[in-house]
Amino acid sequence: MRDFPQITTEQRCLSCKACCRFDDKKSIWRPRVATCEEIFSQEQDSIDSSGYIHAETHTHCISCVFLNICDNRCSVYALRPLECRMYPFLLFWSEGQIAVGVHLSCPYVQEEENSHFFKEKTQDVRDFCSAGEFMAFVQAHREMVSDYSQYMNEIKILFTVPL
Ligand code: SF4
Ligand code: SF4
Repeated sequence: MRDFPQITTEQRCLSCKACCRFDDKKSIWRPRVATCEEIFSQEQDSIDSSGYIHAETHTHCISCVFLNICDNRCSVYALRPLECRMYPFLLFWSEGQIAVGVHLSCPYVQEEENSHFFKEKTQDVRDFCSAGEFMAFVQAHREMVSDYSQYMNEIKILFTVPL
């Protein structure tokens, strides 16, 4: 699959402490990995039976096992799963339909949500999610569509995915 459209800059994300860190080791916000993704076969020991990447506890935070907390970089960046590539966009169930939304907790989204640039990028995301490759992935891996019904106050729905 071609790469998901990136909206944030590397510089912005490297200075942010929000991504790849969680409130607890079983957090629903840990990324999940589909069985067809390369990281699944290469890093199986770091992925639980539900497909979630393990988290580990540090002195001041809990993070994805692949996050280097010294430099804020992902140690498996080239292999990171689709969920990580998509973030701050999210794939989830909404009233029986598969929806794509944006996580309002991301500081970049808070700053840029109303900008022309963000609206353009959202159209790129819609085009990506309407393409055959992405739809085939979702069809084959419905388990990757999350249930964020308890967190909808943190999410803005952008569009539904026509499958
Ligand atoms: S929360 Fe947003 S700004 Fe921060 S690292 Fe993640 S994508 Fe980047
Ligand atoms: S795999 Fe990489 S990008 Fe994804 S949560 Fe872990 S450290 Fe972050």
